[in-house]
Amino acid sequence: MDADIPDARPAATGRVWLITGASSGFGRSIAEAALAAGDTVVATARRPEALDALIAAHPDRAVALQLDVTDTARIADVVADTVLWYGRIDVVVNNAGLGLIGAVEETTDRELRDLMDLHFFAPAALVRAVLPHMRRQGSGAVVQMSSMGGRLSFAGVGAYSASKFALEGLSEALAAEVAPHGIKVLIVEPGSFRTGFAGGGALRHTTAIPAYEETVGPVRTQLPGSDGKQEGDPDRAAAAILGALAADTTPLRLPLGGDATDAVLASLDASRAETVAWEKVSRSTGFDD
Ligand code: NDP
Repeated sequence: MDADIPDARPAATGRVWLITGASSGFGRSIAEAALAAGDTVVATARRPEALDALIAAHPDRAVALQLDVTDTARIADVVADTVLWYGRIDVVVNNAGLGLIGAVEETTDRELRDLMDLHFFAPAALVRAVLPHMRRQGSGAVVQMSSMGGRLSFAGVGAYSASKFALEGLSEALAAEVAPHGIKVLIVEPGSFRTGFAGGGALRHTTAIPAYEETVGPVRTQLPGSDGKQEGDPDRAAAAILGALAADTTPLRLPLGGDATDAVLASLDASRAETVAWEKVSRSTGFDD
């Protein structure tokens, strides 16, 4: 339990949200949208002081907790505190994340494992911690902030995509497992959005090997160069996420942004065309009996 926060809190108003990486970008926008909708938010961040203004604006319905999501032992404490205060968790948002640019050959084992810790093992741990409460409630929603790069990939983002593909694979199975318990899973796949993602030192880089200059070089400059100019508005993304959660049929996957929508549709078309082109070979591998 958190020693700094008193045990007694006002009863929850509306739904209870638990959001990771709420200090900026999507996490912050989702927290603000949930509060604007009249809900209660447990906003978590590595530096909870970054949430001071949010909490000050909604002292009865928002609380900040320190959480580095890679500290999986701390995840259990945060979930326990939330349930102690509010008795339930309605929506959990696995949002914390960052980008890594580099060729696969350049990416060290450490870099790969760190991204998997952040984008895969941490969300898995948080889901494990909240599900007993959601199953007891017979309701709940898990929002997984993936990426367009969790549905398809391109040169320079292999490690990032690997971690988001892993999250999506886990989440697709999870959705089938928890649907009978009244729990929804929403995988969000943003394209390029104007958050802290591409700037302020958040974006990491591998040590470049010159052989990859042609394929990965452009990404090394274009992604940081997009900072502040991305077409996607995180507040509109948050509104779309709340709308999808409120829909009778919440989608399993929701691309966000025109760029993500175009890329996902093109990838699906190409994937279908390739499968059809090789269908005879694919079907030819069974025994004759
Ligand atoms: P921001 O950089 O604005 O926000 C990232 C958030 O994650 C920050 O609050 C950051 O906290 C937090 N974070 C990073 N590491 C940890 C950690 N170990 N523990 C807890 N919090 C952590 O970028 P976005 O809002 O864009 O990123 C949110 C999610 O959206 C990520 O999962 C990202 O992969 C995904 N995404 C973003 C896209 C975009 O174009 N913006 C596109 C596709 C997906 P701190 O302030 O401490 O650094």
